[in-house]
Amino acid sequence: MEDATLGESPGALAQLTQEFTKLPGIGPKSAERIVHFLLGGDRADALSLAEALRTVVDQVRRCKQCFNLTEGELCSICANPKRDPTTICVVETPRDLAVLERAGSFRGLYHVLHGRLAPLDGVGPDQLTLDALLRRVQKGEVKEVILATSPTLEGDGTALYASQMLAATKVSITRLARGIASGSSLDLANSQMLADALDGRRAF
Ligand SMILES: [Zn+2]
Repeated sequence: MEDATLGESPGALAQLTQEFTKLPGIGPKSAERIVHFLLGGDRADALSLAEALRTVVDQVRRCKQCFNLTEGELCSICANPKRDPTTICVVETPRDLAVLERAGSFRGLYHVLHGRLAPLDGVGPDQLTLDALLRRVQKGEVKEVILATSPTLEGDGTALYASQMLAATKVSITRLARGIASGSSLDLANSQMLADALDGRRAF
């Protein structure tokens, strides 16, 4: 009986383990440990995790203006009348946005690209939200676009592409100061470094 159950389970177990290995920083061994932890613990805890995951996937979507993650039409930043709509900070990911928000010094709005141009990996302008950025700027209210893509080859390439795309709009285009080590990502920078990088931004 015990053997029969074990005989059936590897499919589901292996599949769940496989799913966990797709997460950042989780290798096969960690994935296996997590799966066994979940199975060995309270059944209700495991189901509540599954339910929380389903709820997030069902309810969280992209803000229709800036593409940040939100449960409403507009994210809390776009919906906040105290934020300055004339300055837009362009970031690669919602996580970068969260890091800049924690730094606490930026009072404008954001635009999340959901990636960066990576021609070798097949990521072109159409996979990002660049068109929507152009349309936002063309509406005329925006005075400055801060390109806060990562200080990597691809992040720089993305910033260059965005600046050329926006050139005809006459909006002022700036880039974060190089307080952040080249080749690293925003989420590795601390809050003060980011605040300094924002304050020290320069014309692109
Ligand atoms: Zn938004």
